[in-house]
This record gives sequence, C-alpha cells and structure tokens, in this order.
Amino acid sequence: MSDETLLEVRDLSIDFGTPRGRLHALRNINLTVAKGRIMGLVGESGCGKSTLAYSLAALLAGNAVVAEGAILLNGEDVTKMSERQLRDMRGQRVAMIFQDPMTALNPVTTIGRQMLDIQYRDAGSKAEKRQRAAAMLERVGIPDAAAQLSAYPHQFSGGMRQRVCIAMALLTKPDLLIADEPTTALDATLEVQIIELLRELQQEIGCAIVFVSHHLGTVAELCDDVTVMYAGEVAEQGSVREVFRNPGHPYTQALLECDPARIKVATRQLPTISGTLPDLVDVPKGCIFANRCVHAWDRCRSENPARYPASGPHHFAACHLLDKETAA
Ligand code: SF4
Repeated sequence: MSDETLLEVRDLSIDFGTPRGRLHALRNINLTVAKGRIMGLVGESGCGKSTLAYSLAALLAGNAVVAEGAILLNGEDVTKMSERQLRDMRGQRVAMIFQDPMTALNPVTTIGRQMLDIQYRDAGSKAEKRQRAAAMLERVGIPDAAAQLSAYPHQFSGGMRQRVCIAMALLTKPDLLIADEPTTALDATLEVQIIELLRELQQEIGCAIVFVSHHLGTVAELCDDVTVMYAGEVAEQGSVREVFRNPGHPYTQALLECDPARIKVATRQLPTISGTLPDLVDVPKGCIFANRCVHAWDRCRSENPARYPASGPHHFAACHLLDKETAA
C-alpha cells in the first residue's frame, strides 16, 4: 500500500443470510482510492455498489457477513474494528451522504441541533459550534444560514436538505466521504448544482470521495477513477478517461450504449441490456456476465475471467476477450 493510498479494499466478499440460503452479494472486490481522489462506483441496480459503499463505513444490515477480505483505511482493517473504534471512525475519518436526505435527517430535531450534535467530539463552546454550523450552511449555499439553524428538515426543499446533509458530512473534515447516489432524488438542475458543490468542497477539504451512481454522465463529470460493478463483482476499473473512452468489458460497453446522453438518433425506445441479473444465492460458474453477453463463448461459461490489462497501466477489465494469449 503506497503512502498516498487512503483506502484499499482487498479481496472483499460479503454474504447476506436469507431464507433461501447465503446470498453472495459481493465477491472478491479489489479497489484502491488514493488520498484526495474521487472514485465512482457504477452499475445497474442490484450490482452491489451500495453494499460496497455501506461496507466501507461498516453500516451493513445485521444479516451481512464479511466472508473474506479486508477494508483497509489508512492501513487499519475496518472489518476487524470494535464498535468503539467504528464509532470513532464514523463522522471523524469517514462521513456519508445518503440517497434520500429526508430520511437521513432527524425530522423532529432542528437542523442546528443536529449540526451541534455532530460536533460532539470537537473543542469549542456551543456558540462557537453554532457559528461553525452556520458558516458551513452558508458555504453549501443555504441563504440566511444562521436563522435556518432553528428550522426543521421538512421546512427545506429536497435540494436544500441534501445541501444540509453535505454540510453535516463535511463539518468534521473527514478523510473519506462516501456519497451513495446523493443526486438520485433530485431533479436534473439540482443535480448539476450538487455535483459542482461537492467538487468545490472536495478541493477545499482535500478528502477522498467514493461516489456511487448509476448516472454515467455524473461520474464522468465528477470522478477521477471509476469502478464498474456487475452482480457483485468488479467488471472494470481505471481512470474515467480510460474506461469511458476505451471500455474493455462488454458490460461497460453496453452500459455506455444505453446512456441516453450518448444516443445520437432520436428514438422513442431507449436501448437496454437484455436479460436479467443472475441468482446470487446460486452463483453460476464462469463469467458472471455470460448469460447477457453478446460475445460469450464456451470458456466464458466454465472459467472465471482474471483481471486483464486494458487500455492503460491502471486500466483493468475482467473479460477473457482481453486475454492476449488464449482469447478465441
Ligand atoms: Fe463476455 Fe466472456 Fe468477456 Fe464475460 S468473459 S464479458 S461472457 S466475453
């Protein structure tokens, strides 16, 4: 792990206990996020991106089990931390922005109270903490910030509530910010504003961000690097430029072909990737994308593809087509 590495996920596998048996939600995930970089996690619903994001802050449901692997934050394994160590980590070193700002905020407590509570570890008087809270609200574009500290979440619009959540997450200046689809509940204009705000604040604070999204345009706009996930596995990884310009995995290619922003010809029907996600209780043998891949051949149904180099030194894709030695 280099000095610049903040987060390293190593061979991580996570199962969920279900009435049908163990559901293998994540399998052998590897990824690295350097200090101050923004990593996008993309893929369809159910691909495991939110499970991975929640696992980074040890916020998974009670039926989740880390079957294998490690999550190293500055070299410390999050999966082995005690409850007390996790409490110290959350809010101080790792902060999270959730998809729905209304359920992320406490509806019966004022914004000011919640912003004071989040600073409980910090030095300073109550008045100083209120001042810091108001300054942060102002920074995220909440007008008349000091007066708004007395307001309740329902008195804000969706976009304003998400700004409050961002302000709260960044108030403690975390090393790592995890943003789980923070713009999905917002309209397109607000989405652009929130992305710009996140980028500005990230540059000011210098934190790394893991940004979960199914919106490829947003990831291209905000992120430095991207991990494409499919059915609980990493399909492709690299810089945003490498992956979006020269996708090496058929799944990434299909996702990009389905992106409405890239469709040049007017159409009434948007393209989709045919087929459905495989059953993750009984994970099929071979490449996990084989039942939907237009290039699949015998090898794909019997052998799990390794991570093969793609268009650049840090660009990998898990597809036999990139195996220069033996590809059909
Ligand atoms: Fe498709 Fe085979 Fe590559 Fe899997 S390994 S993505 S099935 S070509």
